[in-house]
Amino acid sequence: MSAYRCGLVAVIGRPNVGKSTLINAVMGRKVSIVTAKPQTTRHRILAVHTDPNAQIIFVDTPGIHRKAAKAMNKLMNRTATNALADADVVLFVIDATHWTPEDDDVLKRLKEARAPIVAVLNKVDKVHPKEHLLDTIGLMAARHDFAEIIPVSALKQDNLDHLMDLLPPFLPESPPLFPEDMYTDRSKEFHAAEVIREKLTLMLHQELPYGLTVQVERFLEEESGITINAIIWVERDSQKGIVVGKNGGVLKKVGRAARLELKEQLQRSVHLELWVKVKSNWADNMTDLMNLGYEAP
Ligand code: GDP
Ligand code: MG
Repeated sequence: MSAYRCGLVAVIGRPNVGKSTLINAVMGRKVSIVTAKPQTTRHRILAVHTDPNAQIIFVDTPGIHRKAAKAMNKLMNRTATNALADADVVLFVIDATHWTPEDDDVLKRLKEARAPIVAVLNKVDKVHPKEHLLDTIGLMAARHDFAEIIPVSALKQDNLDHLMDLLPPFLPESPPLFPEDMYTDRSKEFHAAEVIREKLTLMLHQELPYGLTVQVERFLEEESGITINAIIWVERDSQKGIVVGKNGGVLKKVGRAARLELKEQLQRSVHLELWVKVKSNWADNMTDLMNLGYEAP
């Protein structure tokens, strides 16, 4: 029998290419929230996949993006770049339907890291005709000497077994670093806040989701169920009304969707209370960011 392997697989790419979807798909559960809007993932989140031969620790990261005007966006870019330092292998995720200048930026940073890079061409379900994929693979091979280039669809769960088989040889021989029943480094409180933010992002339009954050104040597990109190922080007074909605309609919908999902995931009844509060310009204030759970990498 070969030795046990364990190590870190950093999942890196520009926003919205499907990094979190990919991780959730290989994990078979939702570890990281997903929306169609860029910059949904704001934190470094570990997803631990344990099998009899290897423990693969995926590092989900915020998308590396160009327009990083606010302190939060700078922090997000740094969080992603820092994940490279510890990685045993990097999954460079791109959208197989098109290459952008932001992909170029990311690749430039990856080349400076020492870890081997596997190019993951995601969203192949959207590539038509399929022959285009061969061109894309050829173009990728010309851009860098990747350890592997692998087309997948995270959404349709296509070719993910192949991706998983490919990873253990990149990892060092090591006993597992996490207990086998632990699938993330994040707490239930953190996940609850993320699920609430996901529902807000899905239900609110345009720029507003970028200006809000969710803080779980109380997470009380009792015999009868779980009580969660959370604050939705917005940047300006004018945003508060939009988040609450007419007769509280938006907030009610968000609360309901989040509660149903958390109930399903936690297998407990959930009582959820949401408040909307203003903290002016929190996303550009380092002290606020730290207090709201945005850790410096
Ligand atoms: P991230 O920002 O890189 O983490 O991207 P997300 O995982 O949040 O996904 C961004 C959007 O792309 C979401 O709407 C996903 O449903 C969608 N998506 C992710 N993977 C695929 C895929 O393989 N095929 C298609 N068609 N859409 C995908
Ligand atoms: Mg993400």
